[in-house]
Amino acid sequence: MGETADAIIIGGGIHGASLAFHLAERGWKPVVLEKATVAAGATGRSSGMVRMHYDVEAEASLAWRSHAYFRDWEHRVGGDSGFTNVGFLQMVPRHEVGPLRWNVAMQQRVGIKTSVVDANEVRRLLPGVAIDDDQVAAFEPLSGYADPTASTASLMAGAVARGARLVQGCAVTGVRVHAGRVVGVDTTRGAFDAPVVVNAAGAWAGRIASLVGLEVPVSVWRHDVAYVQRPPDIPRHIAFIDFQNAFYSRPEGESLTLVALEDGNPLQGDPDAPVDSAAVGFIEKAAERVVSRLPQFARAGLHSAHSGQDGITPDQHPIIGQEGPEGFWLDCGYSGTGFKIAPAVGESLAELIVNGEDANADLAIFRFGRFAEGTPIVGEHPYGPMWF
Ligand SMILES: Cc1cc2nc3c(=O)[nH]c(=O)nc-3n(C[C@H](O)[C@H](O)[C@H](O)COP(=O)(O)OP(=O)(O)OC[C@H]3O[C@@H](n4cnc5c(N)ncnc54)[C@H](O)[C@@H]3O)c2cc1C
Repeated sequence: MGETADAIIIGGGIHGASLAFHLAERGWKPVVLEKATVAAGATGRSSGMVRMHYDVEAEASLAWRSHAYFRDWEHRVGGDSGFTNVGFLQMVPRHEVGPLRWNVAMQQRVGIKTSVVDANEVRRLLPGVAIDDDQVAAFEPLSGYADPTASTASLMAGAVARGARLVQGCAVTGVRVHAGRVVGVDTTRGAFDAPVVVNAAGAWAGRIASLVGLEVPVSVWRHDVAYVQRPPDIPRHIAFIDFQNAFYSRPEGESLTLVALEDGNPLQGDPDAPVDSAAVGFIEKAAERVVSRLPQFARAGLHSAHSGQDGITPDQHPIIGQEGPEGFWLDCGYSGTGFKIAPAVGESLAELIVNGEDANADLAIFRFGRFAEGTPIVGEHPYGPMWF
């Protein structure tokens, strides 16, 4: 017999924290077991972009429902998420203008404030941008970025204030199963007992699933991020994704700009690999991309760069739901885009775990079974994969 809880959540990233918060709001007493510290994994390295432009309706809906948290964090969660409403532009190459228009219409049906804007409007929104006269983009005035570590810490604090428990420096080493259902876990700090065990272990989710004999297609995705110092005459700018040049960018505070690339993100590495430095050659490539879109950045200087690792699935969408022994749940595979949807995912998953159904029905498509059935998630009017 170990310490008992209503649910054990493995992983203290944004998803573990969000689920703990929402379970605790519903009167449960979960325990979050984190092998290092809160936000030590992908979350603490995340670029924190908060936008709603997706080509899959359920994801756009989760991002929009989560946005309601980001814009009202203090009241809904308490503390600060660091949300900064700088707006967001989605730029695409010419052959993806059709999907862009369709996806904006789909997002408007979801309720998202978004529209297609012409090149002149893009120039107004992002001064100095190099864009041809016939190009268009999607514009979200309410989007921006947040601070993933602050968001996670405040969700966790909110969970603890409502009766959850957080144990850091506590690595799960085994999941105990009796008569086909989970009964608890073994850890480096003793045993914990609960009828529900949730795998929210990010890049380590494959290892945790294997503890119950489950093979989940979650591999390790590595992503480098650079921060550049803007010259004083370049003001804080809108956040944007540029599919044409395969990079994204947003401001950081008053004087820095974050730049990261969609291509060249290695797969299948070691989840324990160090992430303190970016790959050789990354900074030069990032500089080239940002200058191709914003020529005035030729005068910017490097501030710093780091890497981060997330769990990625073959269709680059998460796996959410009960799988394997009864009481074992998957909440993983967020594939490099999971920060912004975490508040709503935690809410829906808590409803599923507590009540057996999710009123918003946003999670059903993320079921694990889709891989065995050969029906990966693809948008109705898809772009290419986000990472290549
Ligand atoms: C560099 C980078 C940039 C990104 N940018 C964005 C962005 O702009 N917008 C966006 O929406 N998303 C972004 N993402 C993706 C997003 O950050 C992730 O999808 C999200 O943070 C995943 O959260 P998580 O809680 O699932 O995993 P994690 O944050 O990785 O948390 C998992 C936790 O599990 C713990 N753990 C692992 N094994 C064990 C064990 N055996 N016992 C106990 N604990 C264990 C780990 O220590 C870790 O803290 C980015 C990701 C990276 C890496």
